[in-house]
Amino acid sequence: MRSSTPSNLSAFHNEPFTDFSSMENKRAMHEALDRVRIELGHTYDLIIAGSDLQTATTFNSVNPANPSEIIGIHYVASAKEANAAVDAAQSAFAAWRKTPFAERSALLVRAAELIRQRHFDLCAWLTLEVGKNWAEADADVGETIDFLEFYAREALRLDAATTPIQYPGERNLFHYVPLGVGAVIPPWNFPLAIMAGMTAASIVSGNTVVLKPSPDAPTIAARFLALMEEAGLPDGVINLVQGGPEVGRTLVEHPQVRFIAFTGSKKVGLEIHERAARTQPRQHFIKRTILELGGKDTIIVDADCDLDAAVDGVTASAFGFNGQKCSACSRVIVESPIYDIFCDRLKERVEALSIGTPAENFQTGPVINEVAKKRVLDYIAIGKSEGRLLTGGSAVEMPGNGYYIAPTVFIDVAPTAKLAQEEIFGPILAVIRSGNFDEALAIANNTEYGLTGALYSNSRKKLDRARDEFHVGNLYFNRKCTGAMVGAHPFGGFNLSGTDSKAGGPDYLTLFTQAKSIAEKRGYASDSREEQQ
Ligand code: NAD
Repeated sequence: MRSSTPSNLSAFHNEPFTDFSSMENKRAMHEALDRVRIELGHTYDLIIAGSDLQTATTFNSVNPANPSEIIGIHYVASAKEANAAVDAAQSAFAAWRKTPFAERSALLVRAAELIRQRHFDLCAWLTLEVGKNWAEADADVGETIDFLEFYAREALRLDAATTPIQYPGERNLFHYVPLGVGAVIPPWNFPLAIMAGMTAASIVSGNTVVLKPSPDAPTIAARFLALMEEAGLPDGVINLVQGGPEVGRTLVEHPQVRFIAFTGSKKVGLEIHERAARTQPRQHFIKRTILELGGKDTIIVDADCDLDAAVDGVTASAFGFNGQKCSACSRVIVESPIYDIFCDRLKERVEALSIGTPAENFQTGPVINEVAKKRVLDYIAIGKSEGRLLTGGSAVEMPGNGYYIAPTVFIDVAPTAKLAQEEIFGPILAVIRSGNFDEALAIANNTEYGLTGALYSNSRKKLDRARDEFHVGNLYFNRKCTGAMVGAHPFGGFNLSGTDSKAGGPDYLTLFTQAKSIAEKRGYASDSREEQQ
């Protein structure tokens, strides 16, 4: 149904970052951590059609900095609960698809306001459940607010879409309608922003969803759903099931699931792509997949650049949240004339990073779990045969027995080495030497990925060439390759980095809708608006 409610929303602005050097904000964060600690270890139900549901099995979500600390206990959904959740979403779709865009948009704005009020508490949950330090947690919460506010406005823009041409003798209408029931499957590393962003885009477009969070970050998702209910979410519009690949596969293959919004690894994304392509008995549509996957993100450091800025940018991009970002810089290509000095400065800069518990706001902390720790240590072993260790290269023992690994840099890595080709998703950086800019660009484009990249250079000619030839979805000049801002840097990758959906961009919501074109021959029935008068 088209809405006649005019928008009273102000222009979109990115949520400001919190200044944690202020005593007041430091105190607020400590108080939030104390408040959240009292709530640790609760058991969270599955939510289907607005009702709580328990199953026979549970799993624990733990603090990666202190795995004996249980953050939340969650019921595991089986195929039975996944199917019930799809049925609930299908029933809720009948009314939700007819709810005006303006009402759906207003729900997102109310939720954004509740998140603002609980900003520090949500930061504390992120710190404790996935090991983000304060600034990383703050960026995740800020991006969540941005997604909600941005999609609230984009929904109104979609609602106001007009028909390009009125054909003579006809009344022509072109408008966007929702797809149906969606499965939303987020990763653990932006457990609030990406989870909430994909969910919010789905529902503001008129779809209903089954949300299956990552088993490494189930508590944040459960708390987000409670917050959405508080903001006025009708029953069944978002249904929550918890679990791993099994429940994910059930949703992907379900004949009533019209679309899958997935962010995660290349391996799982490609599996989803394949499964979703197979038409199931009783399925009456071609499933749509919105897949945002991994990266092997590169920064090129040109001989003619601001070296300090490059060293800072590479360090922040490679080791922010311990390299556990799809956009993290995992290889840096440095031109020969500055190679040695760059490596010296990088070593100094990386060794100055503090390592310790995220709750006490150290710069680098633990990786997410035991499996990730082993994977990263395996890549360190590979790196020792593929390059020269510049710094790091081992696990770090800390009180709490968290999954800490020292920020690690290998130099003299060949462009085709495993370390230069495979996504590691941890605190390892490979440094590659290049003879000239042509070679640097060729190396930058030599992986199967194409997510983010950056170039540090003072040469306009080189920046222009990179604009044209550096083949990534998000390209940055003279700044880090992480930290995309909603609206300013719509986010999504090329090649096997995904379907380039551009989250936080002007085309995103169209992925969650289908456009309907209606042509009515004039002269047979009065205009419904005329009838009302
Ligand atoms: P993952 O692929 O292991 O898991 C992602 C989600 O898929 C989880 O909810 C998981 O339970 C679920 N899942 C696992 N197997 C499944 C299956 N067979 N069918 C259906 N669902 C299944 O990824 P992760 O470890 O949670 O996240 C890290 C990955 O995500 C990295 O590769 C990173 O680059 C990528 N990532 C990409 C972006 C982006 O925007 N491109 C953003 C963040 C993270």
